[in-house]
Amino acid sequence: MTDQPAGTYPPSAEMAANAHADKATYDAMYAASISDPAAFWAEHGKRVDWIKPYTKVKNTSFAPGNVDIKWFEDGTLNVSANCLDRHLATRGDQTAIIWEPDSPDEDALHLTYAQVHEKTCLMANSLKELGVGKGDRVVLYMPMIPEAAYAMLACARIGAIHSIVFAGFSADALAARVSGSQAKVVITADGAPRGGRVTNLKDSVNQALINVMHDVKCLCVKRTGQQIAWRSEGDYWLHEMEDTVSADCPPEEMGAEDPLFILYTSGSTGMPKGVVHSTGGYIVYASMTHQYTFDYHDGDIFWCTADVGWVTGHSYIVYGPLANGATTLMFEGVPTYPDAGRFWQVCEKHKVNQFYTAPTAIRALMGQGNDYVEKYDLSDLKVLGTVGEPINPEAWNWYHTVVGKGAVPIVDTWWQTETGGHLLTPLPGATATKPGSATVPFFGVQPVILEPTTGAEIHDTAAEGVLCIKDSWPAQMRTVWGDHERFEKTYFADYKNYYFTGDGCRRDADGYYWITGRVDDVINVSGHRMGTAEVESALVAHAKVAEAAVVGYPHDIKGQGIYAYVTLMGGEEPSEELRKELEVWVRAEIGPIAKPDLIQWAPGLPKTRSGKIMRRILRKIAEDDFGALGDTSTLADPSVVDDLIENRMNKG
Ligand code: ATP
Ligand code: MG
Repeated sequence: MTDQPAGTYPPSAEMAANAHADKATYDAMYAASISDPAAFWAEHGKRVDWIKPYTKVKNTSFAPGNVDIKWFEDGTLNVSANCLDRHLATRGDQTAIIWEPDSPDEDALHLTYAQVHEKTCLMANSLKELGVGKGDRVVLYMPMIPEAAYAMLACARIGAIHSIVFAGFSADALAARVSGSQAKVVITADGAPRGGRVTNLKDSVNQALINVMHDVKCLCVKRTGQQIAWRSEGDYWLHEMEDTVSADCPPEEMGAEDPLFILYTSGSTGMPKGVVHSTGGYIVYASMTHQYTFDYHDGDIFWCTADVGWVTGHSYIVYGPLANGATTLMFEGVPTYPDAGRFWQVCEKHKVNQFYTAPTAIRALMGQGNDYVEKYDLSDLKVLGTVGEPINPEAWNWYHTVVGKGAVPIVDTWWQTETGGHLLTPLPGATATKPGSATVPFFGVQPVILEPTTGAEIHDTAAEGVLCIKDSWPAQMRTVWGDHERFEKTYFADYKNYYFTGDGCRRDADGYYWITGRVDDVINVSGHRMGTAEVESALVAHAKVAEAAVVGYPHDIKGQGIYAYVTLMGGEEPSEELRKELEVWVRAEIGPIAKPDLIQWAPGLPKTRSGKIMRRILRKIAEDDFGALGDTSTLADPSVVDDLIENRMNKG
């Protein structure tokens, strides 16, 4: 099988010389982090300011029935003070947040640390006025506007636990999360402009709150000024409250293990889980990964294109960058509005140095041609990152050659909502990259590959199986909100004494890790186990294919057959000839065993709102089991599913 589709890319000498870590530094730090984790993190925990310094560093157990994770447990601190107050003396006038609106015709904002601090304090005092205190839950349902960051930091400041619900989710999804956390307040905005269209968020909140049994107040930001409906009571404008409260809000002293936020997973594999993150370990790890993975230096402009509704937005738009005193760019819009050059136009305009996006966006933009990229000056780019799904080598190469002009290192970061920060990732000055591999572990992370059925650890360097993590790292999730048993059952029951990631993985002879897809997605064809990612990569490597998703379906002879959903490039027409061509193509790329048994032309694929393909739905369609599609509340466009059902391939 193709292990290294397009060779390796070592860091340039210049990058290695100037980076926070070159290969020798990475090796030494990684070895130290594994041989004595407590000593390593005792040292690096000091990168944030503590009110009361910790004396205990690590107290963690993955033992069956007794999973308990504590880091820096006797220390106290405040995350908002770490992201704002501690920078005021040295960089109060430096831009903390660059805000780029949906429309390029509207002005961008440059908000200094002093301004963000003031706005955060005003919002924090407004929340207090509404009765919110330490330990209370606040739900955010917001556009990508600076107030979303103020709201997160305001909650952190007063010790409230935020739970962000992506603003594209339905009123039902919002209601479930407000009820689930018994939130006191929902923070929202009147409207959310995105891709040239405006959604009325306040209306969705009103609709959601009808179905919530307890009293919930609503704090509303004026973004668009559009007409909205106000409930009979319990609704407040932020700008009106700001006029009545003080701009002085001392940060609450929080225990390291106090929860900072709840965040639901994407729901790619089932019902979303309310992941709970802590205060101390999370902020130490988010800031350290931000600095090392992106090789962030003072004065750099950092842009992560995620929404704050995803963990990526939490760790790498707000908490990591601001804890590091960085300038972070927040973008309200979408990659294709007003056209497919928007990302690159913003990179040029704000002289972006580190750019971090998802493979789904890269694939979409790749399909639009290179002109959109080549029009813009991207010479300030120093690091390009990806997250969210395996990046197929085809897209990696496009990112590398067309966007990065062959000179900018790519960091393919593997991590999860549950992990709080990057677990597998190259460091730009240290790690030679291989397209499609998330490469090697971050400091303190011990990945292991287990034999899927026996659970035995495979010690050979080259190995394939399920990816587990052997020991805790500071930003590990602490529990599932309100359901510690589900936490233990989901992550610690299948493979005793390990954290189970749910992902399949291969380790090559150099010790590099390659995510092969979700364990649930592994196909077993005539006794050969195959990750879906590999077959998809082969399909996407064909010039006429824009995107592909592969699942297994019951097959009389082989046990499982390969069912491929294929989206063609704009302008390409489906034909029997092309179907044959693709079969031959995959066969040649991977081998006869991987030849798709059925190929269905798919104008669109079912995706989560964060752009991940929901293979569990495709599997049900391939299995002819439409009655049991499961939770579809996090789907971006449910109509895609109807089309796929209608045009399902006959397996007769
Ligand atoms: P749910 O857990 O509810 O099914 P989800 O797993 O999609 O949803 P996230 O936490 O947003 O929710 O996604 C984490 C998953 O995304 C990883 O387990 C992995 O499958 C995939 N992933 C993230 N980054 C990468 C990457 N760089 N390479 C390969 N896969 C990745
Ligand atoms: Mg998951």
